[in-house]
Amino acid sequence: MNHTMNEETLLHTPYPEPDPYGALNMPVYLTAAYEFPTAESMEPAFTGQNADPVYSRISNPTVMHFERRIARATGAAEVIAFNSGMSAITNALFAVASAGSNIVTSPHLFGNTYSFLAYTLSSFGVEARFCDLTNLAEVEKNLDRNTCALFLEVITNPQTEVADLKGLSALCRKNGVPLMADTTIVPFTEFRAKKFGVDIEIVSTTKYVSGGANSLGGVIIDYNTFDWSHSGKLSVLAGQPGGSAFALKIRREIHRNLGAGMTPHTAFMQIQGLETLAIRYRRASRSCRELARRVGSLPGVVAVHYPGLHEHPYFELSQAQFGDYPGPMFTFDLASKADSFRFLNRLRLIRRATNLFDNKSLAIHPASTIFGTFTEQVRRQMDVRDTTIRISVGLEEVEELYRDIQQALHE
Ligand SMILES: *Cc1c(COP(=O)(O)O)cnc(C)c1O
Repeated sequence: MNHTMNEETLLHTPYPEPDPYGALNMPVYLTAAYEFPTAESMEPAFTGQNADPVYSRISNPTVMHFERRIARATGAAEVIAFNSGMSAITNALFAVASAGSNIVTSPHLFGNTYSFLAYTLSSFGVEARFCDLTNLAEVEKNLDRNTCALFLEVITNPQTEVADLKGLSALCRKNGVPLMADTTIVPFTEFRAKKFGVDIEIVSTTKYVSGGANSLGGVIIDYNTFDWSHSGKLSVLAGQPGGSAFALKIRREIHRNLGAGMTPHTAFMQIQGLETLAIRYRRASRSCRELARRVGSLPGVVAVHYPGLHEHPYFELSQAQFGDYPGPMFTFDLASKADSFRFLNRLRLIRRATNLFDNKSLAIHPASTIFGTFTEQVRRQMDVRDTTIRISVGLEEVEELYRDIQQALHE
């Protein structure tokens, strides 16, 4: 795989205008509104005929620069930034869904995404069809003319289930359904979503892009690969100048109505994160593979789950899609919930916290925390077990991390 283009463009995307002082970092434009020289110059900006910012809920130069760096690095037609991963997801789904439509997905989802689909959208008459996405025949049975999207996570968390993207995208093509993928776990510096048929990529930039876990953010990456001319409420926008019908719907309506855009301060911090993303990701992923391999043979560990291990059920699929770097997160099972809590309480270096892909390694018991407010029955449907520990691997020396896990498991 060639990553040069990515790293270069992530570091060296030019500014829209030369900076009067030659600032090497994109300035932070902390302003709500923008002044125009004439009344005539306001009309094209306010009606979307050019990209001049008019009001920062809608667009802001620092945020636009963040979007542009990702667009150049991914080759996307359009990138839209939000104030969290959840607002990127909700904007994307609000753009395509309407009462009577359905979204085909898996119960193996980030907790709030599951809740948004199962409880929030369903109360507006949008059906969430939870099915086994590893069973293509079952998926096809669930797709119909009212399906407005197939939504998935490329590696689910904490189940570590890997989606067969070529198989699923072929089904989507055949049925005229856009494929939306949450790729938070394997960032775009490593994984070419478009090559695997993903039409709309969604990332919680809170995680790997921000790196130091200093800010919340999310992006929608639109490859303009889907033909929206036959798809329900977006068909009227298809073929209009200014981008794909999907991006137009979001930019002109959903994004400004929901008011969940990224702040310029966050964009500044996350631009810094982009510059080191590829290096951080690879280092943590190498450590993760090493840890997952070694933790499996420690006493008390019942099973280890990491798609980068040969014995993982999705190893080959993962290798084909993500190469040697299938995300710096692994899980393992201990004998009981009490054992899991005891392990967490004994950790000295690894921090007890939610979040993924901080520079610091983090450990959590998903069933009692992230998924703690779901009923036991829903947790069972999601395959979230009481015995599972999740480790998000950071940038520490792998030997130090291993020693911490080893001593925390020790009787
Ligand atoms: C964290 C996460 C989200 C939500 O992102 P926020 O930035 O916390 O809103 C969505 N999907 C996945 C896979 C995540 O890990």
